Amino acid sequence: MSTASKVDLHCHSYHSDGALSPEALLQKAKDAQLERFALTDHDTVAGIPALYDAARYTSVKIIPGVELSVRWKLHDIHILGLNIDISHVEFTKLLSFQNDQRSLRASQIAALLEPIGLQQGYQKACDLAGHERIGRPHIAQILVREGLAKDLQNAFQRYLTRGKIAYVPTEWINIEKAVTGITQAGGRAVIAHPLKYKFTRTKLHELILAFKLVGGTGIEVISGETSLSQKTEMLALCHRFNLLASTGSDYHQDSYSKIKLGQQHQLPDNCTPIWAHWD
Ligand code: AMP
Ligand code: MN
Ligand code: MN
Ligand code: MN
Repeated sequence: MSTASKVDLHCHSYHSDGALSPEALLQKAKDAQLERFALTDHDTVAGIPALYDAARYTSVKIIPGVELSVRWKLHDIHILGLNIDISHVEFTKLLSFQNDQRSLRASQIAALLEPIGLQQGYQKACDLAGHERIGRPHIAQILVREGLAKDLQNAFQRYLTRGKIAYVPTEWINIEKAVTGITQAGGRAVIAHPLKYKFTRTKLHELILAFKLVGGTGIEVISGETSLSQKTEMLALCHRFNLLASTGSDYHQDSYSKIKLGQQHQLPDNCTPIWAHWD
């Protein structure tokens, strides 16, 4: 299987913290002439049926996906589930657990932000999102809107990241539950944006080994704005740990995604793509 086809296997709709509908994302996928396209909302597959509907008379191959939030040691890690059966019963339960954690966390974050002047933050975030799967970007947007932060980045840095006053450690599922859940739902587990965690190389290797031990098979060699040297480094990891490779824009919306949907680099030939045996 050649890696020459154009794909984007990581992006978000308004069912999580993106701004667009699945239909609008599909239009962008068509404009970018993608052959394969995965919607990977945070801990939900709510947008997948609409995406399939919209793609019915197009040549874009839809890959049903999800981006799971995972607790590994004291870190929040993201694991993509690609090509999953979205109606798998156990997997649906796992997503439901994650979303309960997400709502609980959002109300705890909102409570911690009251002393700095944010009133009814949880309700405002739900109204903004249009659902209860509140992510930190929704809360960040409210903070900006109310003049409590200068922009999204500032809201994260001042309040929402680890060590700051409104960071709430969340009991997301562990890596084994995530990878097993994805695998049992017929999918492949992929470590999302491995360089975003800012781990030492030793720690990143430790994560990869823990991930492989429970059945994980892939890593994102390219995620959004990956540089040439980062790509080379991720490819070396693929070879060293015998992992399949993936590529995705991690597109959320034009105003905060420098790399637009389908515009991230494609995979080079000297790796095995995650979709190698899907047709
Ligand atoms: P959550 O899933 O609620 O923990 O939120 C994580 C999401 O927040 C990520 O998927 C990004 O979309 C966004 N994000 C994380 N860190 C930052 C940051 N420093 N600035 C802006 N957005 C961020
Ligand atoms: Mn996000
Ligand atoms: Mn992520
Ligand atoms: Mn993402």
